[in-house]
Amino acid sequence: MPQHLTLNLSLLFVVVALPVVCLAQQAPPPALAADTRQADARVRETWPRVWAELQWIQQQGTRYAWTTDMQGPAHAIPGRNLIELNPRFLGRADYPRDRWLIVVWHEYGHILFRRSDSGRGGNRGWQDRIASEHAAFEYSLQRAIDWANTRDDAGPLREVLKNLRQRSQAAQAEATNDPHTPAIRQLMSEPLWSQAESVARATR
Ligand SMILES: [Zn+2]
Repeated sequence: MPQHLTLNLSLLFVVVALPVVCLAQQAPPPALAADTRQADARVRETWPRVWAELQWIQQQGTRYAWTTDMQGPAHAIPGRNLIELNPRFLGRADYPRDRWLIVVWHEYGHILFRRSDSGRGGNRGWQDRIASEHAAFEYSLQRAIDWANTRDDAGPLREVLKNLRQRSQAAQAEATNDPHTPAIRQLMSEPLWSQAESVARATR
């Protein structure tokens, strides 16, 4: 092969192939990026207040990520300061905006509990799991009360009251070893619950 042709072929490789290699190195896995962008865009456009809460939580140092690798709508991984959200629950009729707010607050409540002195203990047994759920429900209830008081929007408060009442009743028949049930019952016997009910009544 004449030398000038070899050189031209080499140049052709640089011009054509190199940009492709660079693009491949820069782009994240395409499917995952597209799903994340889509889920972000959906929340940002449909529920600006949920979006604002997610941004606020990130500003406090806790990340969130979209993944379908779970059964429920969300879970917290306190050790990684991470909340994972399931995009399959976006657009579901039983997961309207107010429920999403409650879900996000609940998971952030788990993160805050593990950061606190009471949540940092080595005990990860039954009582500790109840305490963590109690802290998460308590945080979501408190945020819903504040939200109703400051934004003239009692939607999340009514949602969390309805949801927790239903769950406490449904669980009475089951007798499961689910830590959510005793945590909800404990919360419903506390002053914060009565306060939440009276705020909800006042805003009706
Ligand atoms: Zn929980």
